[in-house]
Amino acid sequence: MKTYICPKCKERSGLEILYGYPHVGLADAYARGEIALGGCCIDRDSPDRRCMSCGHEWKIVRRSKINYDAHIGGYWDDEDFSN
Ligand SMILES: [Zn+2]
Repeated sequence: MKTYICPKCKERSGLEILYGYPHVGLADAYARGEIALGGCCIDRDSPDRRCMSCGHEWKIVRRSKINYDAHIGGYWDDEDFSN
């Protein structure tokens, strides 16, 4: 399980916050303290990481979000999927 450096206390105790109802595997991971659960809803302002040492929560910059924005207004050739 990946851990992340907390920007506040500099401990490597940051865990990914997962949203939505956890399935069995996630519940086990949560019980082992490997992940943090954020609840059933996510919005643009929801934090992505939670430090298990100091409780600080923070957002990351999602590369996929940047890529998604780059496609807006661009040309998308849907004929690629016709066969
Ligand atoms: Zn911290």
